[in-house]
Amino acid sequence: MQFKRRTHTCGELRESHIEESVVLNGWVDTRRDLGGVIFIDLRDRYGITQIVFEPTYNNEAYEIGKDLRSEYVISVEGKVRQRPEGTENSAIPTGLVDVMVDKIVLLNEAKTPPFQIKDGLDVNEDLRLKYRYLDLRRNEMQQNILLRHKMYQIARNYFDTQNFCEVETPVLMKSTPEGARDFLVPSRMHKGKFYALPQSPQQYKQLLMVSGLDRYFQIVKCFRDEDLRADRQPEFTQIDVEMSFVDTEDVFEVMEGLMKVMFKEVLDYDLKLPIPRLSFKEAMEKYGSDKPDLRFDLEMVTLNEVFKNSDFRVFKDTIESDGIITGLLAKGCGEYTRNQLDGLTDFVKKLGSGGLIWMRVKEDTIEAPVAKFFTDEEIKNLRSTLNAETGDLIFILSGKRLKTLSIMGSLRLEMAKRLELIKSDAKPALLWVTDFPLFEWDEETQRFYAMHHPFTSPYLEDIDKMEANPGDVRARAYDLVLNGNEIAGGSIRIHNSELQAKMFKALGISDEEAQMKFGFLMNAFKYGAPPHGGIAFGFDRLVMLFAGENSIREVIAFPKTSSGASLMDDSPSIVDEHQLKELHIKLR
Ligand code: ASP
Repeated sequence: MQFKRRTHTCGELRESHIEESVVLNGWVDTRRDLGGVIFIDLRDRYGITQIVFEPTYNNEAYEIGKDLRSEYVISVEGKVRQRPEGTENSAIPTGLVDVMVDKIVLLNEAKTPPFQIKDGLDVNEDLRLKYRYLDLRRNEMQQNILLRHKMYQIARNYFDTQNFCEVETPVLMKSTPEGARDFLVPSRMHKGKFYALPQSPQQYKQLLMVSGLDRYFQIVKCFRDEDLRADRQPEFTQIDVEMSFVDTEDVFEVMEGLMKVMFKEVLDYDLKLPIPRLSFKEAMEKYGSDKPDLRFDLEMVTLNEVFKNSDFRVFKDTIESDGIITGLLAKGCGEYTRNQLDGLTDFVKKLGSGGLIWMRVKEDTIEAPVAKFFTDEEIKNLRSTLNAETGDLIFILSGKRLKTLSIMGSLRLEMAKRLELIKSDAKPALLWVTDFPLFEWDEETQRFYAMHHPFTSPYLEDIDKMEANPGDVRARAYDLVLNGNEIAGGSIRIHNSELQAKMFKALGISDEEAQMKFGFLMNAFKYGAPPHGGIAFGFDRLVMLFAGENSIREVIAFPKTSSGASLMDDSPSIVDEHQLKELHIKLR
């Protein structure tokens, strides 16, 4: 079909264009027929321009204008005019002008879309995902995709100026565990063998350090075949980074620089550096989380000292079994009703706690079902340790360390919500969490796992404890947290094959298994590996937070549902018998 190429976009015309002849191309956003004059808002990625059809101006165009419907694709030619007084639209940048149409070409008709192409849409997300190409036509989605684009450019530009080299690593690789389940790809040419999709380019980036590339980054897709909890995707994007001859401080410096430019260029916010730090232990004890939200205070307080001689059975047992007693002060909540307190008790019970101890702080006593178990001295100490005042409410949980702390951490977040402690204009709260444990004990399988991944270096002074006391070994690992979200994680790596072997041993991976799975990396370490370390940002989550969205699906062009399905192209899907045969696969 013949059509004239646009002279301007739909977001471009201003008063300075008045009297100019222009050509616009775009979609019909809305159409108002006032009988004798038709107004159309014409839309493209750049904005909206009002175009006007009047029979006295051009009857032929007016006749075609009558049949236009939403989402029709058109090309119009016409003259820019000042909008008549009183009809200006200050809500859009083109709102002082419109275009009188004297020629129109209908480029394509459109079926009525399953939902309106507008912001603030209130429809089922599945419908949006099925018609994602239409969902992406909406302005707010386009803004998210453009923001994401901008953040790629900022990252690429930043790393380039810092001497980093972008390298692509394979998508078809060897299956090597990195914590999650691999997606496997059967090989046609190698019968019975499989590639895996990378959970991250971890080993490749370490190999690039052995190669002497010195500073690597990549904006890269990673794949993990996990049951998708809340806001995860089977494929997601990382900004992946690795650096040679560095320690933690060097990694922090470069990443803080990246955060600084991101905040400045995206949000025009001057981020103060350095970013504060907390050890994993402190983070757990004060906030009950390894990704604490520091936009508000509400600190938890360890009360073991206060109750060290307590006769109260529950506390006594906890202290004897090396557990923790942790308290939280809810300011001014002393008048909470029994109903509210029962609700909060249910809340912690659902998370696996035996119960919730609560105490109302009165003038010179406390009022609580458990009050009778405590001495005056203990109550006095409790009040002063928590800085409790009349009218406050005290919560206490006790039990196994990490579990109890993390339940109290959830209660902390719940109370913050109830007390509206997170202000809408709160400054972004960034922090590094450091010194994670190297190993994590798994009750179910009764063995230790690497908390980060098996290539993470222990603190050198803790190496001796790796056999006798693995739970006490600290890792040179760190996470970057923004407003209670983990946005990046990384570590200083093991760069010597003996220590790596020791690590595998501690994880119960036999020599043969290690050789089979990681032999290439361990061999590479024998040829002069520099000390190195790195980090990876969860890019989707980062964009989500900068966009002010609540789900990463809002910043991914074609996301999958929480069950890993693509509603638009219907994947995963059945394949031909013939394809399976070629791959030497038989379905059961
Ligand atoms: N590969 C790690 C991850 O995906 C990040 C890192 O250690 O650099 O979590």
